[in-house]
Amino acid sequence: MPVREAPLFIGGRWVGGQTGGTFEVLNPATSEPIAVVPNGGADQARAAVDAAANAFPKWAAMTALERGAVLLRARDILTAKLDALARLVTEENGKPVAEARGEVSFAIQYLPWFAEEARRVYGEIVPPPVPHKRLWVTHQPMGVVAAITPWNFPATMVLRKIAPALAAGCVVVLKPAKETPLTAIEIARAFEEAGLPPGVFNVVVGRRAAPIADVFLKDPRVRKIAFTGSTEVGKTLMAQAAAQLKRVAFELGGNAPFIVFDDADLDRAVQNAVAIKYLRVGGQSCICANRIYVHRPIAEAFLARFTEAVRAIKVGSGFDSGVQVGPLINAETLEKVEGFVKDAVARGARPLVGGRRLTEGAYGKGFFYEPTVLAEVREDMPVARDETFGPIAPVMIFETDEEVIARANNTTFGLAAYLSSRDLRRVIRVSEALEYGLVCVNDATGYTHEIPFGGFKESGLGREGGRQGIEEYMEVKSISLNIS
Ligand code: NAP
Repeated sequence: MPVREAPLFIGGRWVGGQTGGTFEVLNPATSEPIAVVPNGGADQARAAVDAAANAFPKWAAMTALERGAVLLRARDILTAKLDALARLVTEENGKPVAEARGEVSFAIQYLPWFAEEARRVYGEIVPPPVPHKRLWVTHQPMGVVAAITPWNFPATMVLRKIAPALAAGCVVVLKPAKETPLTAIEIARAFEEAGLPPGVFNVVVGRRAAPIADVFLKDPRVRKIAFTGSTEVGKTLMAQAAAQLKRVAFELGGNAPFIVFDDADLDRAVQNAVAIKYLRVGGQSCICANRIYVHRPIAEAFLARFTEAVRAIKVGSGFDSGVQVGPLINAETLEKVEGFVKDAVARGARPLVGGRRLTEGAYGKGFFYEPTVLAEVREDMPVARDETFGPIAPVMIFETDEEVIARANNTTFGLAAYLSSRDLRRVIRVSEALEYGLVCVNDATGYTHEIPFGGFKESGLGREGGRQGIEEYMEVKSISLNIS
């Protein structure tokens, strides 16, 4: 098993962690370690902030075209390593290699998108209220950005923050998830090869997030906390960031409703429900369908096709051919998923497919759970009320449009929602009424680089991607010139 001697990237140098401390990165399909990594802590976080702050003035002073050229070189380097990176994602995250390849390829595309967007961050010349003044508005990079990312999309979650921040002229200190630090390290290597000046992008990996985050939160040079993860951790970060009124951008948890109306193309609806429930990291995605609502007149027909499709899903190691759903990320997540199903069944839910942990043969070594469909679910059950983050689809039946809109919105989350219908009037009415940052109509893959992504309510603050994604890393400055 490889021991990474110096996996922390600080000030353009590869360095080790705190004396003596290491942690293991596990393959969730086997629960065996794939790497031993030195543990970074507060000292390394401090050194990273120092390096970033020193690098900021020069990087910010470069033109968007010059910064973009570095991002485009990093794009080319990462693209040349696509297959190796995809295998690395599968090793540390567990998702099937084909899915991992899709993820890495998608993640890389944030680099050209933001390299180009940076050239279009226009200011304004504003008509003055008096003749002897001239007014104009410009955007400036914020400074040092601390990014904290989760394990479910080890490449996308990193590049969706790094690309706009660097393109805008900010400098970054990144703490990736302890489960998936290796992909982040390879992304840093690509930036190094692309000629990124030392200190502009730094990576601190560590077993314990809090001491690293504490340095980011207390150092006044860190102007922004860009976090993707659970709503619970987001709230604690926001409370701590308040002490210095740091800017925050949060992409948090979700509880996506997937609504199938009686006029839907049922085959398409089934295909989309399977894709967005099970085929994205086995249900461990913030925009996964978390509750499926089916219109009474087509409930039986939908369930028959849906359960048949779910039964056919192949579960296994992400490296095995034809596998569509890999393991869950760790034992804790597996226990949580098991607990949700047991609780729901005890309260009257009925498993139509699956409903148990997979333990036979090779499954026994990893964190595998059967793709599951639950009927007779109610919204007061945790399986429908909370974010399940696993391959479980609770199905509920509704009678009217107004009823399903109210039930879909009755949550503290507001990230993504899905609806299937062929009636344009209904599509417009329902999509406008849903309190979610992303509404996908007859579509399981709506989220993409060109549109802003983020949550209503407790699903987040700010937007990533789109034209808006780069503005998140810039302050707006108004300049008033007296020419009298
Ligand atoms: P998490 O426990 O909140 O962890 C996310 C990141 O925060 C990791 O790097 C983690 O480090 C770090 N962290 C944990 N505790 C911390 C603390 N006290 N202070 C500072 N940092 C801390 O979330 P997760 O379980 O990894 O990820 C799943 C969650 O992310 C789900 O709720 C999902 O919906 C959400 N998510 C949202 C989006 C979106 O775009 N909205 C995308 C993906 C995931 P360690 O790994 O070292 O613990």
